Amino acid sequence: MNIVFLGGAETVTGSKFLVETDTTRVLVDCGLFQGYKWLRRRNRDPLPVDIGSLDAVILTHAHLDHSGYLPVLYKRGYRGPVFAHPATVELCGIMLADSGHIQEEEARFCQRHKIGRHEKPEPLYNQDEANASLTLFQSLGYEQPMTIGDIRFHLQPVGHILGAGSVILEAEGKRVGFSGDVGRLDDIFMHAPKPLPALDLLLLESTYGNRLHRAEDPFAELAEVINSTVEGGGRVLIPSFAVGRAQVLQYMLDRLMREQRIPKLPVYLDSPMAIDVSEIYWNYPEQHKLSQQECRSLGQSTIYTRSVDASKELLGQTYPHIIIAGSGMATGGRILHHFKKLLSDHKTTVIFAGYQAGGTRGAKMVAGAETVKIHGAWIPVKARIEMLDGLSAHADYGELEQWLQQSDLAAGTAIQLVHGEPEASETFRDYLRQHTSYEVDVAGYRTILRL
Ligand SMILES: [Zn+2]
Repeated sequence: MNIVFLGGAETVTGSKFLVETDTTRVLVDCGLFQGYKWLRRRNRDPLPVDIGSLDAVILTHAHLDHSGYLPVLYKRGYRGPVFAHPATVELCGIMLADSGHIQEEEARFCQRHKIGRHEKPEPLYNQDEANASLTLFQSLGYEQPMTIGDIRFHLQPVGHILGAGSVILEAEGKRVGFSGDVGRLDDIFMHAPKPLPALDLLLLESTYGNRLHRAEDPFAELAEVINSTVEGGGRVLIPSFAVGRAQVLQYMLDRLMREQRIPKLPVYLDSPMAIDVSEIYWNYPEQHKLSQQECRSLGQSTIYTRSVDASKELLGQTYPHIIIAGSGMATGGRILHHFKKLLSDHKTTVIFAGYQAGGTRGAKMVAGAETVKIHGAWIPVKARIEMLDGLSAHADYGELEQWLQQSDLAAGTAIQLVHGEPEASETFRDYLRQHTSYEVDVAGYRTILRL
């Protein structure tokens, strides 16, 4: 069996792992490269695989860096099945269409403002192509076995976000695990990842391979930032991923208000996509820790602004309030309109609540950029910038090591580290080599591993 690392190697985005046996080829994850321009350019490169020869795609979860390349695959002729958990299928229904829409908007914007080198910039894919790719999806519940050619596989729960799973795959007498994105062992919101069975090879994510999450209580941290901003008469902007993070934030804000740890403030969820995703989350109660009553309370305490008009009205509000809007790394979405209006006001606080990939506007702001470019204009950053890192949906290296210890992995099991910036993966490799008996290495982009 060959494993070819077509993405999610030496970077946290673009996850794509090709598995080849003598008779069968499947792609585990089909993600977009995001962040730096040189990385995003890879989305336009031809895949070094005959797309017609692919027998199936398996998705670990719905995040675009794991699913967002599917419409490209469809556009280039792929018509085989895409297996994913039913919640992932529902979430992709929203996210891929939105991704197509964003690609179209960006291409139009670049054309209108003559940004970029092309006379008529083409979107990577449009909304119709994204919607067409959804017809390939086939639901696969947790622990449900599936066979394609001589490859057998199933998904097992891994926390992180709704529908997320590790892929356990068997062929030619070998068993390989693809961790997918691994959730926290003790998450506010999601259940812990299931320990792995015995494996010959594990592809393990390493997003936080060089970081331990701070032990502080994220509720207390969030309350402090909100209270000090409100006392100063300012507004709170929270760029948020629509899937997972927006729901955790709704829950935390609702609870802080119910417990009177922050004043009752209007909380706007200014993202049609996050609003739809919240509805899906409340439909899978077995996958998260919230009671039905808590789900209902959230629906009442958050003001949903779906329409563009309702969103524009928010720009005129001057009293303290909280706006949660996409995108999570401030690379697009409605948060940018709020930034244009409020980033240059020192009373504003921006709270980043998730991982900020290198090269994104979010990463620049967290690193202390004094100005950021939004829609072609440079905006001074006078607002207070906060990073709430206790909310991460990824296990840190200590939790990953603990997860490995809970698993049935024998000494000497091969581990290839994927889904990490090089420094994180390399630090984690050295750590695991010193503290465990696994055979650990960092996967190289476009390298082939023979098993
Ligand atoms: Zn993810």
